[in-house]
Amino acid sequence: MRANAWTAGLPARYVRPDGSIDTGKLKAEVSIAEVAAEATDLVQVGTEMRGLCPFHDENTASFFLNDSKGVYFCHGCAAHGDTIDLFSRLRKVDFPEACKALAGAETRPVTIADGKADAAAKAANRARARDEWRTAGPVDGTVAETYLLSRAIGYSVPSTIRFGRTPRYWNDDGSPGPRHSAMIAGAQDADGRIVGIQRTYLDREGRKMRGGSPRLSLGRVRGTALRLGPVMPKIMLASAVEDALSLRLMFPGATVWSAFGDANLQHVEMPRGIWHVTVCGDADESGRAAVAAAREALGRKGIQTGELFPHGGAKDFNEEWVLLHA
Ligand SMILES: [Zn+2]
Repeated sequence: MRANAWTAGLPARYVRPDGSIDTGKLKAEVSIAEVAAEATDLVQVGTEMRGLCPFHDENTASFFLNDSKGVYFCHGCAAHGDTIDLFSRLRKVDFPEACKALAGAETRPVTIADGKADAAAKAANRARARDEWRTAGPVDGTVAETYLLSRAIGYSVPSTIRFGRTPRYWNDDGSPGPRHSAMIAGAQDADGRIVGIQRTYLDREGRKMRGGSPRLSLGRVRGTALRLGPVMPKIMLASAVEDALSLRLMFPGATVWSAFGDANLQHVEMPRGIWHVTVCGDADESGRAAVAAAREALGRKGIQTGELFPHGGAKDFNEEWVLLHA
């Protein structure tokens, strides 16, 4: 293999024998939804995801992407391209730099889409998720606690949120990549089994890790929820983990669950015994769309719903809680 200016610094597995970048492999392993999620909030709409365009000002989401095809397009400004193109436009870096950053970021497909991996790979990821979950410990005294305290939600954190040193990816031979500190949230299916995890990678100061997406899921997350309380007849369902933790402090005694983000809000499978769900969303257009879709989905299953949005000009519930708390 020849090293050249384009491929210098790129992991060998992304360089073809002729010295060119294996963009196909890179794009197959990097999720365009994860790349876009750094710039805009996405909502699942059928087979695609939709959000406000990061490249032009708009109030109605006209930016679409297809995570399994790895492409994006905007009906407003006609911006379009693939994962590498999106990353280079968002970060304002050239093509080789974008490839290196995406490869070096160790970003792996986001399993919320669950589209590309075959059954064996999915089963392996679920087993890994359960292993990482079992070996993770309490957040007390860790950077995960520092991170949560910086958002005013680090108090009496339930045991469904843990701390661990966990890989961002596994190699093709099954060996784990380097381990990094992360807050680990358990994803439970309708029967209460841990079938996946969501990792929020943190630096030494307890801030979200820079370079690559700080938030990665492993195993099954679609259809699951993070439970911050037991099954009750009435529960609250929030989008992000931080919003659920904030709502739990705002409504002591309430059972609050998180759907791990807007895209999964409408997919959460509810166990028996829940008959009313207050769906809690961000105070913006994509948040309202996600709440409406979730209420419709729950309604079809015969579950009564209500909705709640942040007050006081806050965009999300963590922001509202921090404002109340200050
Ligand atoms: Zn646009």
